[in-house]
Amino acid sequence: MKHFSAAVIPGDGIGPEVMDEGLSLLETICEIHGGISFQTEILPWNCRYYQEHGRMMPVDGLEKLQPFDVILLGAIGAPDVPDHISVWELILPIRRSFHQYVNLRPIKLLRGLESPLRYKGHADLDFVVVRENTEGEYSNMGGRLHAGTPYELAVQNNVFTRFGIERIVRFSYELAMATGKRRLTAATKSNGINHSMPFWDEIVNEISQEYLEIQTQLTHIDALAAFFISRPENFDVVVASNLFGDILTDLGAAAVGGLGLAPSGNINPDKTYPSMFEPIHGSAPDIAGKGIANPIATIWSISMMLDHLGERELGKLILESIEGVLVEGKIRTPDIGGRATTREMGEAIREQMYRRGG
Ligand code: NAD
Ligand code: MN
Repeated sequence: MKHFSAAVIPGDGIGPEVMDEGLSLLETICEIHGGISFQTEILPWNCRYYQEHGRMMPVDGLEKLQPFDVILLGAIGAPDVPDHISVWELILPIRRSFHQYVNLRPIKLLRGLESPLRYKGHADLDFVVVRENTEGEYSNMGGRLHAGTPYELAVQNNVFTRFGIERIVRFSYELAMATGKRRLTAATKSNGINHSMPFWDEIVNEISQEYLEIQTQLTHIDALAAFFISRPENFDVVVASNLFGDILTDLGAAAVGGLGLAPSGNINPDKTYPSMFEPIHGSAPDIAGKGIANPIATIWSISMMLDHLGERELGKLILESIEGVLVEGKIRTPDIGGRATTREMGEAIREQMYRRGG
């Protein structure tokens, strides 16, 4: 019997709604498999907690999380708490303190779904974006001056380190090798951003020499955004800085059915700290409380979590079960053209799992 532990932060808005389905699915997996168990602990750290305690998590929050094998997060953010507080005091400290320097975001059109891109199918939309997750544009350096005057200004510094770029670029090449992919695309903007992006390009070029079997292309972020739509078949592994990767993956998600279907892993490849799995979407205040959020992004994130824990067969079973439901086409949440509830979608996926694996 293998035992795993997971800290679960359902969060705000639709976060708890989609996480309920994620946790039920985790129970189903343990029932079907019999050889694994998950001990979960639910942590109520969200914007309500902030309003009661003046912080997004307890002072020793990170110490509390550290012993867990993995962390599962729903979504964070509420209209009455500024986003820079909810993100900077919960998600970013976890990503940084636990050296989750890889943010892995698959862009894959699932069977049973059609892309809004008219001529693109499943063979065209199947790649992965590796987003740098600890530095770059999301830096805490900068400031604001002269508030209340016409001279008011804001400065936001970007921080790029050789260490940080090398490790994300190397991870991306290794991922390409391990998955038998041929192409690596690096997002850049070296024509306009004249310090950090040439630095990024230089390091990609250096490391590319160690992986001559992989074809390397440096593509400016603006052109790359267009190619995600016009030629998504050109991509296998795309490596990008923190902000570029964030933006590219919402775009990629839209090309494969929307945010309700887009999973992610915040990975600490050295496994010295827990990794965190979460849908890339936010708390969706516009649909929160209605029970209609799509739980697939969360459930797919759990599949990535099982891959990370070495349980690849189970990860695959989850993904196949999601696709099974989509191919049958009877149960769909409103974001993908149906009328099913979050619960009905979760149940349908669990039922597929029993059929396939039970
Ligand atoms: P969002 O991802 O919450 O929503 C964008 C749009 O996508 C909305 O129309 C929403 O209804 C839809 N959507 C998102 N998830 C869906 C799902 N599972 N099923 C169906 N539709 C879904 O982004 P936003 O509106 O920019 O942000 C809302 C809040 O979430 C903000 O407070 C923001 O800071 C926060 N946020 C948090 C995270 C995170 O927790 N990692 C990520 C992004 C945004
Ligand atoms: Mn985002």
